[in-house]
Amino acid sequence: MARTTFKGGIHPRYFRELTRDKSIKEAKLPDKVIIPLSQHAGAPAEPTVKVGDEVKAGTEIGKSDKFISSLVHSSLSGKVVAIEKHPHPVLGSAQAIVIEGDGKDEREEFTPRDPEGVTPEEARKIIARAGIVGLGGAAFPTHVKLTPPEGKEIDTFILNGAECEPYLTGDYRIMVEKTNEVVQGLKIIMRTLGVKQVYVGIEKDKAEAIASLREALRGEEGVEVVPLEVRYPQGAEKQLLKTLLNREVPIGGLPLDVGCVVNNVGTALAIYEAIGLGKPLYERVVTVTGRVVNDPVNLRARIGTPISNLIEECGGFRGEVGKVIIGGPMMGLAQHSLDTPVTKGTSGILCLGEKEVALKEETPCIRCARCVDACPMNLLPTEIRKEVRARRWERLSEYNILNCMECGCCQYVCPADIPLVHLFKVGKSELRRIKRS
Ligand code: SF4
Ligand code: SF4
Repeated sequence: MARTTFKGGIHPRYFRELTRDKSIKEAKLPDKVIIPLSQHAGAPAEPTVKVGDEVKAGTEIGKSDKFISSLVHSSLSGKVVAIEKHPHPVLGSAQAIVIEGDGKDEREEFTPRDPEGVTPEEARKIIARAGIVGLGGAAFPTHVKLTPPEGKEIDTFILNGAECEPYLTGDYRIMVEKTNEVVQGLKIIMRTLGVKQVYVGIEKDKAEAIASLREALRGEEGVEVVPLEVRYPQGAEKQLLKTLLNREVPIGGLPLDVGCVVNNVGTALAIYEAIGLGKPLYERVVTVTGRVVNDPVNLRARIGTPISNLIEECGGFRGEVGKVIIGGPMMGLAQHSLDTPVTKGTSGILCLGEKEVALKEETPCIRCARCVDACPMNLLPTEIRKEVRARRWERLSEYNILNCMECGCCQYVCPADIPLVHLFKVGKSELRRIKRS
C-alpha cells in the first residue's frame, strides 16, 4: 500500500469552488491565434510555413531536428499573416506564428489508430508527430519521456491527478468528464513503457475523480488509484515519487533515474486523442478563474488564443485587477500583457484583485524556522537567503539551492514577508552562471 503524503508543504486556501463543479466549455473560435515556436522544454521549433500560406487546424507549422523539442501545429484554419516576436507567458517575448482564421474551422485529417493495436515504437512516433508535451506546466516533450535512455530500467508509471495548485480545476474536470479517454491514454503509456506497476495519485478532495477512475480501472492488474493528502505541492513529481514509492530523485536528476515516469492526466488524454482520434495537440483545457472574474470556468481553448479573449468569454472583470497570472498562485507567472497567448503549458489564467496582491513590507527575519519546516525539499531557506543577500554565490552549492523547485512554500509561511523565491531565483541563476564559466 502506497503512502499518502510527504514531509513539509502547506495548506493554502484553495478557491477551487469557483470552477470545480462547472463542466468544461468549448471556448469560442478566436479570429486570430499567436502560436509561439517555443512552448516546450528543449530546442525551439523553426517555422515550416511562410507568410501567406494557407493552413488548417492540425497543420504542422514548426519543427526542430533536435530530439528534445516538439512539433508545433496550427490551431485554426486560415492564413499565416506574420512570423514575429510576441508576448510569451514564460519567456516574456518570443518568435510566434500569427494565423488569421477563415471561420471554417477545417481540420487536417489524420488516420486514427486502434489504441490497442499500436506498437510502442508507433505510439512514440505518433505522440511526437502530434506535438504532445507534459500538460501539467513543465511542457517536457512526451515522446522523450516515453523513450528512456539505454540502461535506465523503468518499473513504475505514475499518473498525476493531484492538481495541487490552488484555484486550478482543469485536471479534475478532465478526470470526471473524460475518464475513459484518460484510461485509454494510461494504457497506451503502460504498453509503451512496458511497466507492470502503476499508481494514479489524486488528492482526497477530488472524491468524484477518485471514484470514476477506480471504476474505470476496476480489475486492471498492477494499477492502484491512491487518494493523497490534500497538501501543496503534492503534485510535484519529486513529492509524488517520495509519497507513492519512497524514492528520492537525486539533485539535478529526473524520475527516470529512480525507475519511474510521471505524466499528468491531461497528457494521457492528449495521447489518447492523438492515437485514437488522429488529433495533434492544438487545444487544451484552461481554468480561467479568480474572484475578480465574472464567471470563472474551465475552457477548452485553441493554443495561441490571446488570454484577453478567454477572460472576456468569462464575462470580463468585476472590480480592480491587480495581477493576471498564467498558472496557479504558487508557481504561476505574472503577465505584463493580455495579448499573451495560451500555450501548451497554460493550465490556468488566474486574475487577482488589487487588494489580493497588495505588497506587504518586508521585516527582519525572526529565525522562527517556519520556512525550514515547510520546505518539501529539506532545504534551509533562511540560510540560503543569507548567502544570496551576501552574494556568496559559491556557498549556495553547499545548501543545494539547485534542488529548490521554487514552490513558494517557504515564502507563504514566512511571517517577515521576505521575498524568498525571488532571492532563490537570483541565487540559482548566479550559481549556474558561475558553473558555466
Ligand atoms: S520563515 Fe521567514 S522569518 Fe522565519 S526563519 Fe524563515 S526567513 Fe526567517
Ligand atoms: S521555494 Fe525552494 S526553498 Fe522554498 S520551500 Fe520551495 S523548494 Fe524549499
